[in-house]
Amino acid sequence: MDFKKYTDAIDREAEVILTASDKVWDAAETAFGEYKSMEALCEALKTEGFEVETGVGDVETAFTGRFGHGKPVVGFLGEYDGLSGLSQVSGCPVNNPVSPGGVGHGCGHNLLGAGSLGAAIAVKEYLEDTGKEGTVIFYGCPGEEGGSGKAFMAREHVFDECDFCLTWHPGTTNSVLNTSSNANFQVLYKFDGLAAHAAGAPHLGRGALDAVTLMNVGVQFLREHVIPEVRMHYAVTDTGGYSPNVVQPHAEVLYLLRAPEISIVRDVYARVNDIAQGAALMTGTKLTIDFVKGCSNFIINHVLSDQMQKSLEKYEQPKMTEEEKAFLTELDKSVTPAQRADSLKGAAKLLSGEEREMVESHVGELYHDIIVPLAYNPNPMAGSTDVSDVSWVCPTAQIGTATWMAATPGHSWQVVAQGKESLAKRSTLYAAKVMADTALEVMNDPEMLEAAKAEHKKNCPDGYDCPIPAGVKPRAIGKL
Ligand SMILES: [Zn+2]
Ligand SMILES: [Zn+2]
Repeated sequence: MDFKKYTDAIDREAEVILTASDKVWDAAETAFGEYKSMEALCEALKTEGFEVETGVGDVETAFTGRFGHGKPVVGFLGEYDGLSGLSQVSGCPVNNPVSPGGVGHGCGHNLLGAGSLGAAIAVKEYLEDTGKEGTVIFYGCPGEEGGSGKAFMAREHVFDECDFCLTWHPGTTNSVLNTSSNANFQVLYKFDGLAAHAAGAPHLGRGALDAVTLMNVGVQFLREHVIPEVRMHYAVTDTGGYSPNVVQPHAEVLYLLRAPEISIVRDVYARVNDIAQGAALMTGTKLTIDFVKGCSNFIINHVLSDQMQKSLEKYEQPKMTEEEKAFLTELDKSVTPAQRADSLKGAAKLLSGEEREMVESHVGELYHDIIVPLAYNPNPMAGSTDVSDVSWVCPTAQIGTATWMAATPGHSWQVVAQGKESLAKRSTLYAAKVMADTALEVMNDPEMLEAAKAEHKKNCPDGYDCPIPAGVKPRAIGKL
């Protein structure tokens, strides 16, 4: 169907949408500390006539913007957290922080939140214009980076009323998310020992840093005995001080454990806990295991994803202007040819015939203005997303759009450099139209919605089991 009449609202309200994006970029706040960013998006929602509620699901910086009544209920997921250490001047093609060591929008979540807001605005326009029954909810989801905010929200049943949810992520291609993702747990292992003079009386000390070292060595040996898809990363978040002449009385290490299924993560977690216990026994220290957060693996919904592909193809994707090309050409000097060639290779491998040839012919280009044909990838991506937890609650689908230069590395200053620029903004509005169009197609086709729900029921027959235990609260990163 033609919903241009409603998706036109996105262009009409572009200033509200993109001002919110710029404000979130300027605020650049990390997980669960996104107070100014929440304010910017809530202000835009109120301007557009949504009913706003903050602190949903007992998460301070989570919120909803709601319009309409009754069924069907569509949710659009928005994010707005930044990444520490990635501060960068927008529009500058060389690394140049606004504030050295500061926070920057290195995953483009300023655009993500704004794009989903745009989609919600178009669906609201439709509900107002037609007077039909239906509800649109914009979900303000904090702490995606290292926080799994949506998993905390899902644990508190925030998404239960949705018939389906849609979202997007800024990226380097116009494509539908065609793969599952890794589930993960993030856990802090704390060791307490005994301080002592490291030369005068080391026999009286019990070294907590020794325990961290032994635990890490143990985990290196575990790598051989888990499936190859498992990822085990760590950061030593407390070394016990910087004096080598002290036996360190406290030390801690933060682990991030990933696997294609949550059951495998649980198994790896139990084995890493045993290793930590072993390290404590070896060193005579006391171990405390502190579960920080977890998220599930993504459940693809083919019915919704197929529709998203059609909607991607229905609207015109942005092309570079000469000015934008000049900026990206300069920015491209900061990456390697190997990085540039990597962007479409994975997508091409899944295709065959003319489609594969078409995609391969674009490998190595500065910017990908093509729409990648949809082919599902049987292998999960190594990374994780808390959109997955929503995908266990209701049918959920996601697109990416070519927001950035093709060779843009994920989580980089190059992402931040493009975050307020015109191409990224047009790409955000394009994403908003595609999401809104998908939602309107589904809302006007009860059979499609039923098919999406039946597929979801088949994939998640037992419903959602949140990986985060009851009682664990979201914590701001840097304040673990
Ligand atoms: Zn990210
Ligand atoms: Zn992200």
